[in-house]
Amino acid sequence: MPSSLILDDPAVAYPARSKGELRLAYRLYRVVTNRLLYKIGMPLLMLASRIPLFHPLIRATLFRIFIGGETVAEVLKVSERLYQHGVYSILDFAVERAESPETQQKVLQAVYENIDRAVERDEIPLVVFKLTGITGVELPERISLGTATEAEKQRWQGYEEKVREVFEYARQRRITVCIDAEESWIQPAIDALVHRLTWEMNKDFPVVMQTIQLYRTDRLEYYQWYIDECRLRGVYGAMKLVRGAYLEKERRRAAEKGYPSPVHKTKAATDRDFNRAVLLSIAHADRIRSIIATHNVQSCQLAVDELQQRDLPMNHSNIWFSQLYGIRDNLTFALARIGANATKYIPYGPVKEVIPYLLRRMSENADALNYAPEELRLLKKALS
Ligand SMILES: Cc1cc2nc3c(=O)[nH]c(=O)nc-3n(C[C@H](O)[C@H](O)[C@H](O)COP(=O)(O)OP(=O)(O)OC[C@H]3O[C@@H](n4cnc5c(N)ncnc54)[C@H](O)[C@@H]3O)c2cc1C
Repeated sequence: MPSSLILDDPAVAYPARSKGELRLAYRLYRVVTNRLLYKIGMPLLMLASRIPLFHPLIRATLFRIFIGGETVAEVLKVSERLYQHGVYSILDFAVERAESPETQQKVLQAVYENIDRAVERDEIPLVVFKLTGITGVELPERISLGTATEAEKQRWQGYEEKVREVFEYARQRRITVCIDAEESWIQPAIDALVHRLTWEMNKDFPVVMQTIQLYRTDRLEYYQWYIDECRLRGVYGAMKLVRGAYLEKERRRAAEKGYPSPVHKTKAATDRDFNRAVLLSIAHADRIRSIIATHNVQSCQLAVDELQQRDLPMNHSNIWFSQLYGIRDNLTFALARIGANATKYIPYGPVKEVIPYLLRRMSENADALNYAPEELRLLKKALS
């Protein structure tokens, strides 16, 4: 019997939200769906995030719907609540601009602490971080473009050592740690570092997890190569699949600099590659651990059908699903309801750090707004 995801039942969609939160979410989504209010609201919010007087207001509104909290204690409460309803949490320490050593140190510290939390808590299955949160963006960009000086190459080597220590810490504790994917002109340095660590660390367990963006024209082929390479080397693979957050930025830069755009021309082509990657993940679930990170229902339903077709358990230890906190809760809880490994990606951190981060994520994920009308309709139903 095929499992269908139930998406339009508010009782399934919002089991972990109070009526007050649903009312608040409804108001926020109304702002988001109103283009004018949205345009005016975003810069105002950015300004407000810099003025402590407005912080209580931000905490009482946006934070309750899209952010786990300012402190670890707060976000852990959220993750416990989600877990009571069968949903796991992936904690995402939110910082902007990690060029200063102090911020980089904070990010590194958060990664170690989140590894410890994943050991201690069943509701936290794995850990994620953005490599440029530790290294800044300038250095990996120069390494990727081949313009780094000898001194910069050595500095990069130093970062690689730090990251290796993180993964060694995770390896000893058997925790998977995922590195996010970034812009294509930064990614080669990240990929090269991740490969070295994958071959080294993933012998007994998928410790090092990479991310691929399937809006890139070359990534499906790359994924096939990666799987073959893992099998050839006798190591476990681990891959987060995303469509990709920097579509416009990629196209703009390619046009400005006069090289062919690295991203697909159409959404349909991105969808096709993403769905093929989903099928590859499931076909190789014996050796490859994947996160199907998407708000797209068709891609999730495809994965669910494929798991059934192959007679694999819905909660296969190597197949995970993830959506951002506050976005498409109906999909996450529908996945949990049929027994899949459903997770929420929950950002947390201080208001002045998280708001710029949230705004960037919202502009990068402008497509998430496509779901807002549906979200509104469901929230209205839940409140009626
Ligand atoms: C848990 C989680 C983790 C994430 N981690 C990362 C990460 O590490 N790195 C990263 O880059 N992103 C990341 N993202 C964001 C992700 O890449 C997408 O931007 C976002 O999820 C929207 O895509 P979708 O699959 O959810 O939904 P959909 O609405 O089905 O797809 C929207 C996406 O399709 C693509 N697209 C839209 N229009 C076109 C077009 N005309 N031509 C070609 N392609 C098009 C774009 O990638 C767009 O974001 C993450 C998302 C989630 C949920």
